[in-house]
Formats: sequence, structure tokens, C-alpha cells
Amino acid sequence: MRFLSYELGEKEGYGILNEKNFMVIPMETLLRELNKDVPKNLLDFIRTYSDSLIGDLKEVLENIKDKGIPLKDVKITAPIKYPRRNVFCLGKNYADHAAEVKSIPSGDATIPEHPIYFTKIADPAIGHMDKIIIPKGYTEKIDYEVELAVIIGKDGKDIAYERAEDYIFGYSIGNDISARDIQTRHIQWFKGKSLDTTTSLGPFIVHKSALPFPVELNIGCRLNGEVRQDSNTRNLIFDIPTIISDLSKGLTLRAGDIILTGTPAGVGMGFDPPRFLKSGDIVECYIEKIGTLTNIIE
Ligand code: MG
Repeated sequence: MRFLSYELGEKEGYGILNEKNFMVIPMETLLRELNKDVPKNLLDFIRTYSDSLIGDLKEVLENIKDKGIPLKDVKITAPIKYPRRNVFCLGKNYADHAAEVKSIPSGDATIPEHPIYFTKIADPAIGHMDKIIIPKGYTEKIDYEVELAVIIGKDGKDIAYERAEDYIFGYSIGNDISARDIQTRHIQWFKGKSLDTTTSLGPFIVHKSALPFPVELNIGCRLNGEVRQDSNTRNLIFDIPTIISDLSKGLTLRAGDIILTGTPAGVGMGFDPPRFLKSGDIVECYIEKIGTLTNIIE
């Protein structure tokens, strides 16, 4: 099941994609069929759903396929436009990317012994086909990073490695857009990763039941049609269960939290000379079985 958030005229909604018919079935329609309350957005749905509800939704979907809205008629937004707190991120979590990073703080190309965590503000996160706006005169070095996004499905602390999947709702695509000059200037990554319009998510959240675990998917990024990043999530240095069990030690993960699991080699900063984003560029982040997240540089 692919969950998505959208705008239809003035109205915001969320629902599930009927992939055969390219229709969005509004969650309002699905939950009313089940006599359930309708949470106000996808984040609230993720915070309150139960595993049995997912099964019920699958059944209802089979029966009401004609009550949807054509996908082409809606504007897809970030599935979670206003995360309940900062987005958790992993730095240097693919060996080939760790090796290409030399010019940012602690960019000494070594493979980290422990996961490197940082967070970024997404207020709001942008979605598929939205514009990335570069604050001209402030940064000259905006870069892309395709990442597998893990969406947490229930609260948990001190989660065992073996039970990590129980705490996942699903998966999406993230573009961890980064201002390299600002990252370098301020030593810490937070500011250079948190500029407005620099967290892109979507287009869908694929429920975990649609993907085998461990998650091993081709992941890549194209810039104006040219392949820049090309890897597989099996190449993560710290895999998803390691991230969830380690991050949740002494720190409660909450349903709806978003974890960006790191980016493979091929970012603009890794070229000599570097190749940063410029006005008019089209950046496409894709992950097998999830989709393609496209953004345009204004
Ligand atoms: Mg990143």
C-alpha cells in the first residue's frame, strides 16, 4: 500500500493509491466504510493506527476502487509535511560516500565506528515536483543526497535489533539537500542542512508489508537525466535494525518520526571540480519499489 498526502483545490487530504487505476482513494472514504474516526492528516493516522486496521484497509480497498480521485487531478505534497520533530539523519552511512567526502567537518574519509547522527528542520518538508529555492547571496553550494527514509510506526525505546521492523510503519524517499559552504563554515551540519525547502520527501510512504525485510533496494539520483548516484540499500554501513536499536537507546522514538538513512556516492561535492545545483536543474531521486521524487531548482 502506498500512502500519500495531497491538495485538491483548497482542500488537503491523504489517502491510499490504487495502483491499477491511478486513483487516490481518500482515507476519509476508507475509514468511513469501517466506521472509524478520520485522523486529520497522515502523521496523525500513523500515530494512531493499529496493525489490524492495515488489514481492514486492504479489504476495503478491494471493494471501493471506483470511489477515488484520479492521481493526475491532485497535487502531491510531502507525505508528512510537518514532522512532529526534526528529521533524524545519518551521516556517512555508505562507504563510497564516506570516501568521497573530504571538505566538510570530520570529512576524513574514514568509515565511522558508530553511526553519525544529526537532525534537520523540515518546516515544512517539500514534496514531489516542488521547487527548491536557493537563498542567493547566502549559499553557492547546494547539493543533493538521495536517501531511503524510514517512517517509525510506534513509540519505542531500547528497541532490540531483532524487533526493529515492528516499529516501522513504512518507507519513503528523501532528498537531504545540503548547503556545503554553510556546513563547512559552522563546523556542525545542522544549519547547512536546515534551510527552507531543503528537505524533500515522497512521493509516497510504502507500507512495510509491501517490501521484504531486510530492505535491499536499488537507490539512485539523476540530475537533468544524468545518473549521479547509483547504489543499493544493502550497502548501508549501519543497517536499518542497527540504526533503530542504537538510536532508541535511552531515546524514545515516536510514531511518525522520520529517519534518513544516509546517501551513497555521487553527490556534487564529490566531483573535482564540484558540481553544485543551479537554477533550472531537475533532480530526481528514485528507489526501486517506492518511486521517484522529483524537484526543480528555482
Ligand atoms: Mg544526508
